[in-house]
Amino acid sequence: MKYRKLGKTGIEVSEIALGAEWLQGKTLAETKELIDYCQNEGINFLDCWMSEPNVRTNIGIAIKDSREDWIIQGHFGSTWQDEQYVRTREMDKVIPAFEDFMERLQLDCLDFGMIHFVDEIEDFEEIMNGDFIRYVRKQREDGVIKHIGISTHSPTVALLATEVDDIELIMFSINPAFDMMGSINNIELYIEEDTYKDKELEGLAPERAELYQTCKEKDIPLVVMKGYAGGRLFSDEDSPFGVALTPVQCIEYCLSRPAVASIFVGVKDVGEMEDAIAYETASHEEKDYASVLVNAPKNSYEGQCTYCGHCAPCTENINIAMVNKYYDLARHHDEVPESIRSHHNDLTYNSFDCIACGSCEDRCPFNVGIVEIMVKAKELFQ
Ligand code: SF4
Ligand code: SF4
Repeated sequence: MKYRKLGKTGIEVSEIALGAEWLQGKTLAETKELIDYCQNEGINFLDCWMSEPNVRTNIGIAIKDSREDWIIQGHFGSTWQDEQYVRTREMDKVIPAFEDFMERLQLDCLDFGMIHFVDEIEDFEEIMNGDFIRYVRKQREDGVIKHIGISTHSPTVALLATEVDDIELIMFSINPAFDMMGSINNIELYIEEDTYKDKELEGLAPERAELYQTCKEKDIPLVVMKGYAGGRLFSDEDSPFGVALTPVQCIEYCLSRPAVASIFVGVKDVGEMEDAIAYETASHEEKDYASVLVNAPKNSYEGQCTYCGHCAPCTENINIAMVNKYYDLARHHDEVPESIRSHHNDLTYNSFDCIACGSCEDRCPFNVGIVEIMVKAKELFQ
């Protein structure tokens, strides 16, 4: 298992992490079997937004003897009412639900207290200007939580969150299908077939590109949810590209986006987690989502760099994907941020070394104009 740093917190987490959302209805023995398996495989990062009480009780028992080995995310605003999950901002519901979460997970201190599921700007503003955020911050002052995070499916809300100094982590839905979509207030629309049916596939939506760039620049880590697009990417019929991807290919896509530290895979059992962990030993070919997408009946990324690395090797040893990434990070700014310039210029070989031989372009499945990008990168970073 590989580990990545969660931005300025310095905390190292496994790049594949356990999302507990599918553990509802599982017995304690099943939950413990999965958690023990994850731990043996080196997974140390767990998200539990699930408000169903038994899920939390079972997790609490399962991790009791290994609490120190886990980095845990819990959520403010996910409550259980009348036998159902209810997202709420009503503090008389939020507070007891959070206290119950801590009690059932048997925690004295939570690593990340997440502001749960904020997809609308009005909701975000009410949270940030009211009792909700005051309560969350009080928990941090009192040492009940160590850090504050937020979960959202909206790039617009996520961008607003990057402007709040004490939000240190953003849980965001990322996969090649959602990445084509701008901000939609209703998460259900992201997974409905009709949303994609008549859509022109135009590659990465600008709001998302801006979010990834901003998080990278500010060193705010993104952790991924819905990396499989609710499973729709596993089927030729349901995928908006008309072709299925594997779990390993979806994970590779998520983990190669700028600023992404880890992906929470929501699994029902050990077998599904094995499919995800196969990523750690997968070959380059097995991870290769790019070749699948480029040969798909509907190719959405023509002309856009997806940082897949297929263009290597460069005759001048330039890491082309990395240069392209820095170029994408820098090009929307009026003035190139010094941090990005130095990252580019500190590469052993960078755009200044390009001799415009063009041999890389033949290998790019997305027909990216690499020579042109190298010329523009030179101008930008000089
Ligand atoms: S065109 Fe530039 S980046 Fe591409 S292989 Fe030649 S030297 Fe490398
Ligand atoms: S230029 Fe093409 S081959 Fe190279 S990393 Fe970008 S998309 Fe992949």
